[in-house]
Amino acid sequence: MDKLISLAKRRGFVFQSSEIYGGFGSCYDYGPLGVELINNIKKAWWQAMVQKRDDVVGLDSAIIMHPKVWEASGHVESFADPLVDCKKCKKRFRADHLLEAVSMKPDLEAHKEPPKSIKDIVCPECGGELTEPRNFNLLMKTFIGAVEDATSLAYLRGETCQGIYVNFKNILDSSRQKLPFGIAQIGKAFRNEITPGNYIFRTREFEQMEMQFFVNPKEADKWYDYWKEQRMKWYKDLGMKDEFIRWRRHSKEELAHYAKAAWDIEFDSPFGGWKELAGVHNRSDWDLSRHSQYSGVDLSYIDPVTNEKYVPYIVETSDGAGRAMLAFLLNGYEEVETRSGDEEAKHEKEVVLHLHKSLAPIKVAVLPLSKKEELQRVAHEIKDNLAENWMTQYDETGSIGKRYRRQDEIGTPYCVTVDFETANDKKVTVRDILTMGQERIAIGELKDYLREKLEK
Ligand code: ATP
Repeated sequence: MDKLISLAKRRGFVFQSSEIYGGFGSCYDYGPLGVELINNIKKAWWQAMVQKRDDVVGLDSAIIMHPKVWEASGHVESFADPLVDCKKCKKRFRADHLLEAVSMKPDLEAHKEPPKSIKDIVCPECGGELTEPRNFNLLMKTFIGAVEDATSLAYLRGETCQGIYVNFKNILDSSRQKLPFGIAQIGKAFRNEITPGNYIFRTREFEQMEMQFFVNPKEADKWYDYWKEQRMKWYKDLGMKDEFIRWRRHSKEELAHYAKAAWDIEFDSPFGGWKELAGVHNRSDWDLSRHSQYSGVDLSYIDPVTNEKYVPYIVETSDGAGRAMLAFLLNGYEEVETRSGDEEAKHEKEVVLHLHKSLAPIKVAVLPLSKKEELQRVAHEIKDNLAENWMTQYDETGSIGKRYRRQDEIGTPYCVTVDFETANDKKVTVRDILTMGQERIAIGELKDYLREKLEK
């Protein structure tokens, strides 16, 4: 993990927020390569969930909504995590996480038998006694307007899906969709997490990619299975290894009282094993019923064919963009024996970042081998031409081995070298990150060649 964090900083994927001021509580910034990677993840999600489907439409709703939304959703009352403190070392833990971790892997010296409740657990750091769990609300508050009092209190949204529920009727009336159909949204969410950490895994400001699929209650189970399959397929199609991700079903105790079913996609993290990456939930008719009740607007649906009237059930798919980015980085990080031909580093291990071509921040690097003006001009022309289609980098410094190495560790799928022969044969050499195979391609055919490789 430390190696990945250091690569991510050195190459401009992730920086600590406000670093020159010493950083700020679990907030992170995405640098030049990070913003490309996270944008590509969001683009791949949008393509699969909206662009390629007739039954899902998009939305971009406001971060700050009417405070009643959060009363209706139950967040004001119960969007809380149980918090325990160690009386001895003063460390703070989430009681549910601690119970889950210790139940799965009991430290039998500290705990004689697997714990039944948080009361049976001692501090994992120092063995000290823990306090009773206290609930801690995660909603971030703000004030709208000139006065700061109860009348101006508002919240930064704790999840993007509420914006979808309150727009259900607008979208139904304006998009000519009929049930079953879905609404998708990508956007920021905020939670005052009590135990943030593990790098960008749990942050206080993060981006969610959520889709709410509205169905006839009779068909909810069928659609639930369908969306479960789709979400896992999405991660696998983008290169997640079979052994790196898995399903986990929520136990009865974990299920929200309104939820009919909930499964998480988990990834094999280097910080304490399997961790939640995404979720698929059957939320029943809870959300639309509550918003009908609190707003006074009837959000039930009348089937235009059968005239049946019902409050739709919702099958939700919920993914975190930053968490997905972390998982793709961990899944793709590999250290290999020297491969680039970088003479200076031939005794060191090299990093290759295996990213699906659609996710790679830079798709092509153009590397001129000669400092001759004529060849550099040709190389610049090639770069400018390719940059019309893809994120492209021009790199003329250092040995060719060093330049290959630079691109391998950021996952650039193709490197194009402009060499001494180029002036005569009007061809360049294209190197493939995966096979390290090299092909000689005519400059005039380069774009079609790369389009075939990158977009097929
Ligand atoms: P956790 O149990 O890890 O707190 P959660 O069950 O509260 O997560 P959901 O409310 O289901 O998470 O949110 C859906 C998705 O949003 C998660 O699967 C995750 O990818 C992302 N997510 C939630 N909280 C955070 C956070 N604090 N930082 C980054 N991503 C998050």
